[in-house]
Amino acid sequence: MNTAHYDVVIIGGGPAGASAAIYAARAGMQTAVLDKDPHAGALGLAHTIANYPGVRSDISGIELLDSMRNQAESFGARFFREKAVGLDLKNREKAVFTASGKVFGAKALILATGAMGKNKMIEGEEKLLGSGVSYCATCDAAFYRSQVVAVAGRTGEAVEEAKVLSRFAAQVYLLCPAPAFTAPAEDVESLVHHPNIEVLYNKRIAAINGETAVESLTIHGEDAPLHVDGVFLYLAGSSPVIDYAGGQLEIVSAGCLRVGQDFSTSVPGVFAAGDILCKEIKQAVIVASEGCRAALYVDKYLRGSDKVKIDYD
Ligand SMILES: Cc1cc2nc3c(=O)[nH]c(=O)nc-3n(C[C@H](O)[C@H](O)[C@H](O)COP(=O)(O)OP(=O)(O)OC[C@H]3O[C@@H](n4cnc5c(N)ncnc54)[C@H](O)[C@@H]3O)c2cc1C
Repeated sequence: MNTAHYDVVIIGGGPAGASAAIYAARAGMQTAVLDKDPHAGALGLAHTIANYPGVRSDISGIELLDSMRNQAESFGARFFREKAVGLDLKNREKAVFTASGKVFGAKALILATGAMGKNKMIEGEEKLLGSGVSYCATCDAAFYRSQVVAVAGRTGEAVEEAKVLSRFAAQVYLLCPAPAFTAPAEDVESLVHHPNIEVLYNKRIAAINGETAVESLTIHGEDAPLHVDGVFLYLAGSSPVIDYAGGQLEIVSAGCLRVGQDFSTSVPGVFAAGDILCKEIKQAVIVASEGCRAALYVDKYLRGSDKVKIDYD
């Protein structure tokens, strides 16, 4: 089997991977980025990115990604439409196996495959994603100024995101699908002080309705639809995409990779950055910075140096 050899192979071409590629290629490393489908990542799904510093406010996630990718390619990084399905991390040179049967060898790897949402979609969710369906209030709340929205979920994240939305929306319905939240009791109690958040228990969404934008929700067991302009879903959370690593990397709780301050995993030469690392705030600007830092630490690792080098002019 033919193996293509690189200094660093980055798995995932979202903002974390693309930013890592910019810094790795610019540092003179032979850099390959394997991405199964840019549209399948979180940024690829994002309809509008209004808060990425320095770019116009009506740019789509895909446009922003294209621009990052072009920048990385201009420094020599190579992008491949490949899905990683397995890793061999036993030797000094790591190997990445892809679904098309290719093998990519590298002195170091950066895993940047993001976090995955839940498997089962609600009726209407896919059709109206970006047109009233969102998974990120921190990103999209400002689009719902003076409107009526619902947040569905029982986690601390759902509670926090309902609070974020309450600063913009006229009315927020927090739909807990069970008799109680899994969020800490004091967080739930603090909702009482929010005049425009109404908490409704045992409300499971059966369908999200609307032709071109969200208009209402059908709730299981109820005849009348709940009229809303948007719905934010936090139903199954999202978990790091690390299935292709085959259990070779140390995991802490909730499927999260153990990484050091330098983004190194438990296997020397394997680094990780972006939403694949469990984090409280998932934002493009944060993961781009992690990609940058992971690439600079890979460079340090490959040079066997004790210092990070930043200036590559
Ligand atoms: C709907 C939505 C709206 C958002 N809006 C904003 C916003 O306005 N502002 C903001 O800052 N952030 C926003 N975010 C959050 C932001 O998009 C994420 O934090 C960010 O994209 C995470 O970057 P990442 O590179 O870690 O992962 P991702 O962007 O998810 O990229 C991961 C990449 O890895 C690829 N991949 C996965 N598995 C494999 C594999 N086995 N082999 C090869 N490739 C693989 C995927 O196809 C994807 O391209 C939004 C997120 C969503 C879902």
